[in-house]
Amino acid sequence: MTDFVIVGAGECGARAAFALRDRGFDGTITLIGSETHLPYERPPLSKDALVAGAGPKLVAEAERYGEAGIALVCGRTVASIDRAGRRVVLSDGAAFPYDRLLLATGARPRALPGAPFSAGRIRALRSHDDAVAIRGHLSRGSHVAILGGGFIGLELAASARRLGATVTLLEGLPRILTRGVPVEIAGRVAERHAAEGVEILCGATVAAVEETPGEVRVRLSDGRVVPASLLVVGIGAIPNAELAAAAGLAVDNGIAVDGHLRTSDPDIFAAGDCTSYPLPLYGGRRVRLESWRNAQEQGILAAANMLGGDEPASAVPWFWSDQYDLTLQIAGLADDAAQTVRRDMGEGAFILFHLAADGRLIAASGIGPGNAVARDIRLAEMLIAAGVRANPADLASPDTKLKKLLAA
Ligand code: FAD
Ligand code: NAP
Repeated sequence: MTDFVIVGAGECGARAAFALRDRGFDGTITLIGSETHLPYERPPLSKDALVAGAGPKLVAEAERYGEAGIALVCGRTVASIDRAGRRVVLSDGAAFPYDRLLLATGARPRALPGAPFSAGRIRALRSHDDAVAIRGHLSRGSHVAILGGGFIGLELAASARRLGATVTLLEGLPRILTRGVPVEIAGRVAERHAAEGVEILCGATVAAVEETPGEVRVRLSDGRVVPASLLVVGIGAIPNAELAAAAGLAVDNGIAVDGHLRTSDPDIFAAGDCTSYPLPLYGGRRVRLESWRNAQEQGILAAANMLGGDEPASAVPWFWSDQYDLTLQIAGLADDAAQTVRRDMGEGAFILFHLAADGRLIAASGIGPGNAVARDIRLAEMLIAAGVRANPADLASPDTKLKKLLAA
């Protein structure tokens, strides 16, 4: 096998390219991405890129691609996969042959029906260019309306307040962070935003959005109108799976892969935000994770399996969110929890441990200032991976070291 092609030059695609070389692949590696920037990390986009105007945080400097013999094709889009001819065809007509192909096409922001994203005052936050455009609207005296009380919305709200902008956040459901974040943690986050002056309106349904050259007005179905200088819509992400679907690959909430990240075509793999896969720890349930560490890990895993490896995707899901001085970290999936116990750790930090009906620890959700919960969430992750049945009283007591439970 000589030609490997990776579509999507984000976190996942770039990590996969380097991992192929690290594992000794000596054929051609072509990494193709629609964005004009070198591959960069997205987490800073809602944080430092907004607050400090930081430039893109690159996955690797330009020279490293040259040194590793990775042909990086930026600013060009793959339009189709010709499976019979084993090549990808770009929108400009160029084609690249492959022996093995990795799809790492990521996800894109969901638009609000009736209010498409514009180059003006209705924006999404997914790319560095989005962050630059949004930052241009955030200053003392400006008013940003944010639709969606998820991670984009809340991190953006915190950054906008740090720049002195007035913030109104609109969430359709009765509370923020409904999916995957326990109510106690969401409550703590909401309190902190309120204390920082963010107006959070839950149960807010948008009836119409009107954009004029000078402002954007969000009309709610209860008659309220929120006038703002900018509206940022953060109502979730849609997996970029159309390329795979058009090529006849299986799609199920993203490009459907097996436990080794293989699509329904044995020569095509998929990984990262665009992919759904069965997770053995949770009974083989098919999940699609949208997180930085998952993108990295799956990129590296896909590389190993493209080279003939047989490594399963079995990592415990994990992600974090920074808002003000608070860090929230969640390991595992809590949806099937039968019992939740709380460990208070001082300085307002706490962790919720989520147990299955059979007593296994299946998730842990923590929040606190800085790194307050990091160590214990890391240990919880190991307990989850090991399938440990923990005594709820031990988990609740800060005097019981999690390391001891792991050793036991
Ligand atoms: P992407 O990063 O989406 O990269 C996919 C790339 O493929 C894109 O550049 C896209 O343009 C390109 N592409 C798509 N289709 C084609 C095509 N046909 N041809 C060529 N190129 C194509 N996660 C955390 O865990 N913690 C955080 O704090 C955090 N903060 C975040 C903040 C923001 C603002 C955003 C947007 C995300 C954040 N995430 C965070 C999530 C994390 O960044 C993503 O999960 C991760 O970037 C996914 O990587 P990926 O490579 O799978 O996809
Ligand atoms: P998200 O985390 O899925 O949150 C979307 C939020 O918008 C949810 O609260 C959702 O509520 C709400 N919503 C959906 N439709 C709505 C509507 N019509 N009106 C009002 N609210 C609505 O997605 P996101 O915040 O947009 O983030 C997009 C992507 O960036 C994701 O991949 C995310 O993982 C990533 N990201 C991650 C981080 C992090 O991990 N720290 C930070 C920033 C971005 P429902 O529960 O009803 O759907």
